[in-house]
Amino acid sequence: MTGSDLDGRIALVTGASRGIGASIALNLAMAGAKVGVNYHTSREAAEKVVQKITESGGEALIVEGDVSEEGSAEAVVSQVLERWSRIDILINNAGINRDRLLLRMNLEDWDQVLDVNLRGTFLCSKFVMPQMIKQRKGRIVNISSVVGLSGNPGQANYAAAKAGLIGFTKAVAREVASRNVTVNAVAPGFVTTGMVEELSEETQKQILGRIPMGRFGTAEDVSQAVLFLCGDGASYITGQVLTIDGGMIA
Ligand code: NAP
Repeated sequence: MTGSDLDGRIALVTGASRGIGASIALNLAMAGAKVGVNYHTSREAAEKVVQKITESGGEALIVEGDVSEEGSAEAVVSQVLERWSRIDILINNAGINRDRLLLRMNLEDWDQVLDVNLRGTFLCSKFVMPQMIKQRKGRIVNISSVVGLSGNPGQANYAAAKAGLIGFTKAVAREVASRNVTVNAVAPGFVTTGMVEELSEETQKQILGRIPMGRFGTAEDVSQAVLFLCGDGASYITGQVLTIDGGMIA
């Protein structure tokens, strides 16, 4: 571990078994934080993330739980608190998509996407907040999406959830600013994880044509921005949305 201004901080990353969440967990650990690695179904992958962190001299705790279920989200936060007695950083990263045009979208597609992306963020934020307020210190970063800013056909549910996260971020930022808790969002464009890899080659080509930098983002691109928002250099930034999209919606 290299260590930096996050030395000794306690972090919880939801959906940290794969993709962007795994990369954020590893980067927070590299910067010196002890990290709760939440997963829902991919236990083996989450164990690998924990192993990578511990092998490089860091500390991590594997935490199973579905963030969209109240009792489960509460248990996820409690396990981190039981282990380290504080919580400095919450990254609301867990997310899913169920893409379909509105005419074909059913209620289940709608509810599932809203439940994981938006309700999960509400629940985890609510459960960490008493501790952050008590500490008079905390950082929450919500993983939104450019789709929440610009919309995207076939993603009415996902765009609504990600736009909802932006309103949530700004409202809560105002509520807790006086307690030295910052709440920000990042809005990644298209990032090469499972989510983008599932798209057809043709769709990927079309999307690339809309990105001025001519490449998809990487999980590392997103993690570095999140790391910045968690660090001391960002202590006066709250209620903001940082777009990470290679200029796509500039
Ligand atoms: P991913 O590779 O599909 O990983 C999703 C993660 O979320 C997994 O770790 C998964 O855990 C977890 N998860 C799903 N449902 C959960 C639940 N109910 N409770 C707890 N964890 C749950 O996705 P990704 O591409 O890394 O995306 C991460 C975040 O970035 C999401 O919020 C996504 O909307 C956002 N984002 C992604 C892109 C992109 O292009 N990839 C762009 C903009 C925003 P298990 O596997 O253990 O179930």
